[in-house]
Amino acid sequence: METVSLESKGYFGEFGGSFVPGDLQQVMNQLEEQFLRYKDDPEFIEEFNYYLKEYVGRENPLTFAENLTKQNGGAKIYLKREDLNHTGAHKINNAIGQILLAKRMGAKRIIAETGAGQHGVATATACAMFGMECIIYMGKLDTERQALNVFRMELLGAKVVPVEKGQGRLKDAVDEALGDLVQNYQNTFYLLGSAVGPHPYPTMVKHFQAIISEESKRQILEKEGKLPTAVIACTGGGSNAIGAFAHYINEKDVRLIGVEPAEAPTMTEGVPAVIHGFKCLTLLDELGEPKPTYSIAAGLDYPGVGPEHSHLKTSGRAEYVTITGQEALEAFQVLSKTEGIIPALESSHAVAYAIKLAKELAAEDVLVVNLSGRGDKDVEQVFKMLKK
Ligand SMILES: *Cc1c(COP(=O)(O)O)cnc(C)c1O
Repeated sequence: METVSLESKGYFGEFGGSFVPGDLQQVMNQLEEQFLRYKDDPEFIEEFNYYLKEYVGRENPLTFAENLTKQNGGAKIYLKREDLNHTGAHKINNAIGQILLAKRMGAKRIIAETGAGQHGVATATACAMFGMECIIYMGKLDTERQALNVFRMELLGAKVVPVEKGQGRLKDAVDEALGDLVQNYQNTFYLLGSAVGPHPYPTMVKHFQAIISEESKRQILEKEGKLPTAVIACTGGGSNAIGAFAHYINEKDVRLIGVEPAEAPTMTEGVPAVIHGFKCLTLLDELGEPKPTYSIAAGLDYPGVGPEHSHLKTSGRAEYVTITGQEALEAFQVLSKTEGIIPALESSHAVAYAIKLAKELAAEDVLVVNLSGRGDKDVEQVFKMLKK
């Protein structure tokens, strides 16, 4: 029973919505209906919380980076430790949430796209545990630079399909997964990995990732007795950032800062356009096609960004800044040496900006940096870059 017109649903200002062919729209409507049905259902919430605790290992700590703070000077830097989650990043939060929904919807087959391989690993992990068939679409280039993650997914029982079309990157994998869904929607659930895509995905992914800021807010109030000066997170599609921001959005004194790679500056240079079934700020080439990007962090290599971030930027609620691959690479090493924590290259972008910003702030200021993942997956790549 549709009482709300499609055009008014899933919008953040002018961004978001659902721009997909009719048959896919029906799948989206059904998904929305089921998501709305279960998201506040006490049994669903209990089961979600059970797996977050017993399987993901939540709650994870908000660690005071004391050495880094001392060495750096200025604001106190805290790290929200999504790197300590099972599978090593924030993506598992969303994978568990969506697979619990898929189970209730009677799906037998899970498909997903992946860039760095982290979402593929998170999805394959959840599928292994819940006994679901799992097919992962991955750009060919990404399968090459994240070969170990491909093998990891295969170990977990997933079938990895390398996508050679286009640039052989994340956006091509998304296209391929959407194509599969249109063909097989009767028995297939598309487990989307970031706060992007047509409605209801951005809202649903935020819902499952909001646990990050639900915890960090409670933790920082316990440790500091006040809210942070700023919350800082890297933005690819924007899922770790929207989860890290969610519970602070209405706290107007808390600065929200998204950090994107200078090599894929979607927020800084993007224009409003529709890609992959939703409207967002995006980088376009002269032909109006999503523009090729190259970040050293595969997880940040996406020409668009979630609709809510696009709105947070244009409405002025959040700030978005850029960090170069070189700066991220330095932060990767600095955090490893000062704190004994090897961050993901994606997260290193957030760390790099926090290091800069902390120096400009006072000792009473507090920064919460979302450490979206651990760097084990990147060590080989960094080894090659540093030895060159
Ligand atoms: C995938 C990934 C990201 C980027 O994705 P978002 O949806 O923007 O969070 C960031 N950090 C890590 C560790 C990732 O695996």
